[in-house]
Amino acid sequence: MENLANIAYLVSAVFFIFGLKGLSSPKTARRGNILASIGMLLAIVVTLFDKDIIDPTLIIVGVTVGGAIGAYSAKKVQMTAMPQMVAIFNGLGGGASALVAMAEFFRMVGQPEINVSITLVLSLLIGTVTFTGSFIAFGKLQGFLKSAPVSFPMQQLLNILLFVVVAVLGALFVLDPAVANPLLVIAIIAAALGILLVIPIGGADMPVVISLLNSYSGMAAAMTGFVLSNNVLIIAGALVGASGLILTNIMCVAMNRSLANVLFGKVGVAEGMGPVGEKKHVTRYTPDDALVVLENASSVIIVPGYGLAAAQAQHVMQETASLLSDNGVKVSYAIHPVAGRMPGHMNVLLAEANVPYDDLYEMDAINDDFQNTDVSLVVGANDVVNPAARYKKESVLYGMPILNVDHAGTVMIVKRSLSPGFAGEDNELFYDEKTMMVFGDAKKILTDIANLLKSS
Ligand code: NDP
Repeated sequence: MENLANIAYLVSAVFFIFGLKGLSSPKTARRGNILASIGMLLAIVVTLFDKDIIDPTLIIVGVTVGGAIGAYSAKKVQMTAMPQMVAIFNGLGGGASALVAMAEFFRMVGQPEINVSITLVLSLLIGTVTFTGSFIAFGKLQGFLKSAPVSFPMQQLLNILLFVVVAVLGALFVLDPAVANPLLVIAIIAAALGILLVIPIGGADMPVVISLLNSYSGMAAAMTGFVLSNNVLIIAGALVGASGLILTNIMCVAMNRSLANVLFGKVGVAEGMGPVGEKKHVTRYTPDDALVVLENASSVIIVPGYGLAAAQAQHVMQETASLLSDNGVKVSYAIHPVAGRMPGHMNVLLAEANVPYDDLYEMDAINDDFQNTDVSLVVGANDVVNPAARYKKESVLYGMPILNVDHAGTVMIVKRSLSPGFAGEDNELFYDEKTMMVFGDAKKILTDIANLLKSS
């Protein structure tokens, strides 16, 4: 039976790997998701059978009820709430790994082997850090907590001290689990560390911490896999851990930051940059004005941002784009890697609206094209087009590559006000003489423009 289970686990792992491969492109992402889900279903069913945990009837009931809850929440969750949901998933994954590892320890008869006790401590540490860290990230994304970095004197010293205490307690436990059983203390310190490690990260650097926590949740699962001697958990956890690290690297490159700079460099940065431009002049344009400019353009690059998701304007944006295309305008979409509130947010959003994949361009592929483009249509994006990232050294955005929307002939920005974006940095682009500010909810404005296009 054990051999059969291991073969089934291997098949699951193959599904996971092909699933991950599918996720590397929007065209194959749906198939990738389905493949990975099949792998997970197989792994769960085999584990429940293998360990004689429950009878087949209960498996069917569990899969049906669990599947229905999963399908309902996936359908119901707002696009804007997806990042928070991902943060919760990461946190619960890490917490579950830590709890399972602990529970296994209490079930053990006799002393655990040294490799088990080491991975147990690691699972507890990483899993608990992921749990509390992810809930802080959730709070920042949901707006319960300030998105700006939070720091206090000697914060890093405190973190180092807590790490040292965990390391010493962990070593004591590994040396003699019967004598020293400091697991609860390790869990409490790890919980504090999760909070302390995430609060000083904020603003534009959040994408890095989200992908890092995702990676941690995988690592915690892999460690628990060692504790349980469960191959599929080791493989699945390692895959999540490794792909999360790759994503973290992609996000670091997108922000032009090193991981160390994100994790340790932000402490002490003042939040927000204070209002600028109060005396500057902004011209308000209407959808009718926008129509005239768009109709006379031969090329338009659309730049979607978080506000597009907030307004649920992806469908009407796609409709506007195809109406413009029908009028002979060349329309493309420029996707900044950190646009929105989770890695890949804009890709998910645009795929939902059936925007053709061939019209989507990553930042590096399209940034040189803005100079030959008539109109940059910025919809609910702010930080990813903020020129302060290029020159304002004291800005939290400084150094992050941005989309060169200001190189186009006209910059048309659709948003509700002059408010800054997630990073809290004012945007001088709003006051540029070639910028047209079309104030309003993105869905409302784009619907007006689409209706005008239809009747023109
Ligand atoms: P921003 O958060 O910079 O800006 C979004 C803009 O959308 C706001 O300025 C807001 O302006 C506008 N907006 C909000 N609601 C609406 C609406 N209903 N209609 C029209 N406009 C609206 O978004 P970007 O996508 O440009 O940048 C993403 C930021 O989030 C970056 O700083 C990134 O680092 C960070 N982040 C990214 C994550 C990721 O993984 N992608 C994770 C966490 C953070 P107004 O209120 O005036 O309408």
